[in-house]
Amino acid sequence: MGKIIAIANQKGGVGKTTTAINVAACLAEVGVKTLLIDLDPQGNASSGLGYTEQKEKNVYQALIGKLGLKEVIVPGPVKNLDLVPAGIDLIGAEIELVSLPYRERRLRMVLRPIADQYSLLIIDCPPSLGLLTINSLTAAHSVLIPLQCEYFAMEGLGRLTETLKLVVNSLNPSLRLEGVVLTMFDPRNNLSHQVAQEVRQHFADQVFQTIIPRNVRLSESASYGQPIIIYDPRCKGAESYRQLAEEIAHRNGIKEVSSR
Ligand code: ATP
Ligand code: MG
Repeated sequence: MGKIIAIANQKGGVGKTTTAINVAACLAEVGVKTLLIDLDPQGNASSGLGYTEQKEKNVYQALIGKLGLKEVIVPGPVKNLDLVPAGIDLIGAEIELVSLPYRERRLRMVLRPIADQYSLLIIDCPPSLGLLTINSLTAAHSVLIPLQCEYFAMEGLGRLTETLKLVVNSLNPSLRLEGVVLTMFDPRNNLSHQVAQEVRQHFADQVFQTIIPRNVRLSESASYGQPIIIYDPRCKGAESYRQLAEEIAHRNGIKEVSSR
């Protein structure tokens, strides 16, 4: 079965989607068969991969059992990369799921059966700790937490940790912490260094060596609907996401099959 990684942090705008898109694209680029699942009603991972159509065929239909997950998978802009898009109807899912049986396990039930067709499956979570994020954590083998190198980077981590404990205790005992990745690092800013140091003190070797710098090309690439390796393959942002992807592959023994 492919490795399923949830990218979560209930804090908004910390780089979850940028990390999801670009780690997925970087590994697909080197031949790792990858599926990106957009579980955020904002649909940023979908639009960030250039997907804007077919709004009625998305992860929501799979979650409520109207369509099979396979039916909502679309090819991404890079070889070896597929996407399960989100749609605006996912907004209602938080409420509708409440009355469905196995409400926390819906994603796991649809995702695990197809997980053997991929080496890596990445879930982009919304900025909340609601049912969608719980579904994602229940479906995943591990969780990757992006932290922005800014004021209050660690604020709210207590609540996230509580949620992780809850999921481990009741829904997914084998869930592991994949790691913490520092994002939007600005080397000229003292605060960035302080935050990085504080996070390393707190999480020790669970912090990835790779730090993602603040790089305007990354935000531009999303608005063009392209992963950074297509938009500007040689910029600092592309370089750092390739490096992070390599670390993740290495930690998980994911083989780069290079069928490029
Ligand atoms: P949300 O909580 O709303 O889902 P998020 O955690 O997914 O947000 P992103 O959408 O990845 O965060 O990033 C927030 C904004 O910052 C976006 O406009 C994105 O393009 C930009 N951004 C992310 N990472 C970087 C970076 N390393 N350098 C510059 N801009 C970045
Ligand atoms: Mg996002």
